[in-house]
Amino acid sequence: MLQILPQMDIEVLEQAMRDQIQDYRSRGLKMFASSSFQTHSLPMLHLISRIDNTIPVFFINTGFHFPETQKFRDEITASFGLEFIDVKSPVPKSVQRDSEGRFYFTSDPDYCCFMNKTQPMKAAMMDYDVWINGIRKDQNANRSGMQKEESTPEGKLRYHPMLEWNSKMIYAYRKKHNLPEHPLEAKGYFSVGCEPCTRKFDTTNNRDGRWFGMKKTECGLHTDLVQK
Ligand code: SF4
Repeated sequence: MLQILPQMDIEVLEQAMRDQIQDYRSRGLKMFASSSFQTHSLPMLHLISRIDNTIPVFFINTGFHFPETQKFRDEITASFGLEFIDVKSPVPKSVQRDSEGRFYFTSDPDYCCFMNKTQPMKAAMMDYDVWINGIRKDQNANRSGMQKEESTPEGKLRYHPMLEWNSKMIYAYRKKHNLPEHPLEAKGYFSVGCEPCTRKFDTTNNRDGRWFGMKKTECGLHTDLVQK
């Protein structure tokens, strides 16, 4: 049986992304991308920088990120020539506490994600037509059921150029372009989100280190902001 080499797949997917962005551009659609600036985010960011580096990249800055992530974001955007925009919740941290004075990430993480991620993202995307984000089918069951294009409940277009990529292809692309890794990866963090909800995890599913011990697998960006 003929085996398709990852590199061939990558070239086809790269060209498809280039064509799709060109198509959005020719239709006058205003685009933005979003990224959590993890190691596996870099191929999409690198491709955007080569296709059209005027597309801004939103970083949802919850205020709970590792300092290493923010430093990595600054280094990557500078080296790729990209513009990033910090998207922040308008709700002050002083009132992000439950009746017992604990931050909501300890007692109600869904509400914490809603306040710090979903709600600010919803507001930030209002001036745009197309949201480019790097979800992949191989990340979890929710994402495996996604299409290349989806709508948000508000009628914005979601474009998922990395949907068919897998971790081997991400690795091959990083190696080919000599892309760095998130500084916490060497310390055993394979999926890095907010500091209180991320832990080191030695597993085949990198995302198992997120919201450890809870049933939660998504923050809401790829569930609540998808038209059902
Ligand atoms: S990942 Fe954790 S800290 Fe970050 S917004 Fe969600 S619940 Fe809050």
